[in-house]
Amino acid sequence: MSEAAVKTNAAADAEERELTDGFNLIIDALKLNGLNTIYGVPGIPITDFGRMAQAAGIRVLSFRHEQNAGYAASIAGFLTKKPGVCLTVSAPGFLNGLTALAHATTNCFPMILISGSSEREIVDLQQGDYEEMDQLAIAKPLCKAAFRVLHAADIGIGLARAIRAAVSGRPGGVYLDLPAKLFGQVMDAEAGKKSLVKVIDAAPAQIPSPESIKRALDVLKSAKKPLIILGKGAAYAQADDAIRQFVEKSGIPFLPMSMAKGLLPDTHAQCAGAARSTVLKDSDVVMLIGARLNWLLSHGKGKSWGDAPKKFIQIDIEPKEMDSNVEIVAPVVGDIGSCVNALLSGMGNWPAAPADWVGAVKAKRDDNVAKMAPRLMNNNVPMDYHGALGVLRTIVKERPDAILVNEGANTLDLARGIIDIYQPRKRIDVGTWGIMGIGMGYAIASAVETGKPVLCVEGDSAFGFSGMEVETICRYNLPVCIVIFNNDGIYRGTDVNSSGSSDPAPTVFVKGSRYDKMIEAFGGVGVNATSPDELKRAVNAAMDSGKPTLINAVLDPAAGSESGRIGNLNPQSKLKKK
Ligand code: ADP
Ligand code: MG
Repeated sequence: MSEAAVKTNAAADAEERELTDGFNLIIDALKLNGLNTIYGVPGIPITDFGRMAQAAGIRVLSFRHEQNAGYAASIAGFLTKKPGVCLTVSAPGFLNGLTALAHATTNCFPMILISGSSEREIVDLQQGDYEEMDQLAIAKPLCKAAFRVLHAADIGIGLARAIRAAVSGRPGGVYLDLPAKLFGQVMDAEAGKKSLVKVIDAAPAQIPSPESIKRALDVLKSAKKPLIILGKGAAYAQADDAIRQFVEKSGIPFLPMSMAKGLLPDTHAQCAGAARSTVLKDSDVVMLIGARLNWLLSHGKGKSWGDAPKKFIQIDIEPKEMDSNVEIVAPVVGDIGSCVNALLSGMGNWPAAPADWVGAVKAKRDDNVAKMAPRLMNNNVPMDYHGALGVLRTIVKERPDAILVNEGANTLDLARGIIDIYQPRKRIDVGTWGIMGIGMGYAIASAVETGKPVLCVEGDSAFGFSGMEVETICRYNLPVCIVIFNNDGIYRGTDVNSSGSSDPAPTVFVKGSRYDKMIEAFGGVGVNATSPDELKRAVNAAMDSGKPTLINAVLDPAAGSESGRIGNLNPQSKLKKK
């Protein structure tokens, strides 16, 4: 046979054999596993991948910065119990996404960061490839697991491993490294199809031991001043009915951590949210459900926990969480749904919670709520936090299915206490790190994943970290209403530069900024609100219309305190020069 004839035969062969490639296999693998949304930023080497994924029916949301796409993916994971997918370009894009991946891991949210990367051969010899970086090595310490796929035939297994690592046990962030060359690798379509894996039972139930359940119930029954603390692990678990039944059957006061608010309504008779200091100090037995004794709970010891001896019961999927800060006398290891159901069936005829304790907690709570009430009704101009939040509190009460996104310092601390939440997973915020910058990413993912209206309550400083994504919100026409509590700066806008130079102090911004004009640039609705009444009208209009809206709520620049409620964590010099 002539050389030409051999070539023609080979071409005919290839035409007969159907082929697939890395691009298509990744898309097919995602879809096979129900991962139908990608949050990311396009660029080399994943631009065409994004286009093809969109054409194949995956919803591809393009952001302006990878960190925001990553935060979106992380909260999508929290809201859906499926890993949120974030897609980035190599080195700088990857690094931008990494903050969010670490955040997902810290907060126990399932997420997969997929990054394109440069060629192994060149990277490993450090020959200076385009965007050269050993991404896998860098990601490893910041996530639960990290994988790299080099061969198209391994894409199915690679994604399966990533999904399992993200959602099983304690959820977290997973990194999946896809070198540029992988995308174009061609293989036989039939073999490719066979190589894909549909993950079965990705997060298997973890049943607690009967002994641990009995031990926990015995300790709880012995309590004179019991307390239940619900954390965001309990919200994540989506065991809402079982948790509510358990809390109600026990009759025990409960304290929701901020993202667990709404598992039972904040207005529930047993809610001790407004009596937080009292219940932490005076309780004798504390049952933690999906909450860690980290800094947010003062590590379970010290002044805020009082002097009385305390016994802790802890329900968590992660065995190593037990005794992390103080002794846990009754560890219950398993998934929250299984654990709480086991507790419920073991309760039998449960005695009423001690009436004097329940009464004392309720009295304290009612007292605090009553004290706060008049401040929330003030109509001051310029607005203070309480006047503005009083309005938003009523709006959320009237629209309990809206999702509240909240970040800032004072804006966060005060909104957390003031705005009651009525349904599970309706309040999402700065999480374990107290991170600033989650705002727009969270808002976008909430709207996309749930289809519900979103109300974003943002400090002016916090908003700045993700503000450019208002363009993204407008582009996808999402029902997001952003309220910026504008007090001209970080903590407040009244700081002065003591050096005598003309620079502003490090914590102040341009006075009288009009953030509302930012969204107008992209076709959204901008409103400048100077009084609680104006604020109320603007938010209601936004929530009714579903149009992307940004409200600049003008606050008194003197409103707000340094570092909000965590000023104790911010070292202050005693030797400051005047
Ligand atoms: P919070 O900040 O609200 O107190 P944390 O993030 O500190 O909540 O704690 C959440 C805890 O919930 C983590 O220790 C995590 O292991 C646990 N968790 C997450 N999901 C589940 C689940 N499905 N079942 C049991 N525990 C879970
Ligand atoms: Mg501010």
